[in-house]
Amino acid sequence: MEQKLGTKCVQAGYTPKSGEPRVLPIIQSTTYKYDTSEDMARLFDLEASGYFYTRLANPTCDSVAQKLCALEGGTAAMLLSSGQAANFFAVFNIANAGDHVIASNSIYGGTFNLFAVTMKKMGIEFTFISPDSTEEELDKAFRPNTKAVFGETIANPALTVLDIELFAKVAHKHGVPLIVDNTFATPVNCRPIEWGADIVTHSTTKYLDGHATSVGGAIVDGGKFDWFKYADKFPGLTTPDDSYHGITYAEKFGLGGAFITKCVAQLMRDFGSSPSAFNAFLLNLGMETLHVRMPKHCANAQKVAEFLESHEKVSWVRYCGLKSDKYYALGQKYLPNGSCGVLSFGVKGGRKAAEEFMKHLRLAAIVTHVADARTCILHPASSTHRQMTDEELLECGVSPDLMRLSVGIEDADDIIADIDNALGKI
Ligand SMILES: *Cc1c(COP(=O)(O)O)cnc(C)c1O
Repeated sequence: MEQKLGTKCVQAGYTPKSGEPRVLPIIQSTTYKYDTSEDMARLFDLEASGYFYTRLANPTCDSVAQKLCALEGGTAAMLLSSGQAANFFAVFNIANAGDHVIASNSIYGGTFNLFAVTMKKMGIEFTFISPDSTEEELDKAFRPNTKAVFGETIANPALTVLDIELFAKVAHKHGVPLIVDNTFATPVNCRPIEWGADIVTHSTTKYLDGHATSVGGAIVDGGKFDWFKYADKFPGLTTPDDSYHGITYAEKFGLGGAFITKCVAQLMRDFGSSPSAFNAFLLNLGMETLHVRMPKHCANAQKVAEFLESHEKVSWVRYCGLKSDKYYALGQKYLPNGSCGVLSFGVKGGRKAAEEFMKHLRLAAIVTHVADARTCILHPASSTHRQMTDEELLECGVSPDLMRLSVGIEDADDIIADIDNALGKI
């Protein structure tokens, strides 16, 4: 019988043999010893699997990647040093200079900048579309050189919910994979591969770590996309790689292993965004309680969202667990057990009132982080977006009064009392 999610959170990825450490060991070694040069040569040629240099692979990191792979229902996975690296690698693994990618315009600001500015300089063009696009609108965005579609299950910070099934259907109709950043939902609340997504990415910095100790990223391959069926679109996977003696990834490693093997063998080798074994160890500790923490984050956020919605000084609340929310129906479909702990809201009185409100919070800390055990809050208009005028803020979907609240796993009564007190001061 396949193990359930909670069991995988605790146990997947590492199974010690008799006499070995019960807890995942930190292999703090850059290098690995072999008896003969021939043994090592087989690894360099990708003829045997094993470790030779931690920039490419490390046993501690691999165990944690295998845990995430099991949770997402994938066939192969890798850890990276950040979520930014994960999204860059996931797209760049199949899109080259001269190619085109379609992305939801409701995505993390760092990812938007990576795509719209930095990858554009590398010759890859992006079309940004609304996550609410219809099938016809999506169809129109495709070009002959389109190589992927990208979106976030729950967007940071807009909190839109992606219609994964629709996006996957349209991507597949046009012969390209759907890449979904599943950071906010985590595999406990949504497994995009089950809805048709092909590649899943994560900023493990958020709920997977859950304690704000380590920046990290991950890529998981669902293993179902048929690269050979669209061989001319994906030559990197379906034609020989000269830098590895002419092996063809999709042939040698199959549909389940090709994407991740190529990503490690080429991109990790050349860019080196490798996670540290110690950070992977901390990430694993966090993931051991993911299935316990996520329901608590969701239950607390639901209570806080309902409290805010009923408060006279609050002008609006966005949380897909609220019946009044635009994404309630999609949330019920894709996130029936809860979405995440992040919500956003505005107070009457705009930017000034929001700044005043924040001053009076005691339990909720003002930080640029989200999605860890401690409740925290950010007012973009006075911090990350402070150089913008009210008009400019509205253009990028951030109202001057918007506050992003990441509800932690403290007692909900204390979180609400803190907010209630601060609201009383404005
Ligand atoms: C934070 C975040 C990222 C970037 O991840 P880092 O670990 O900070 O590099 C990417 N996508 C989403 C949805 C995020 O929330």
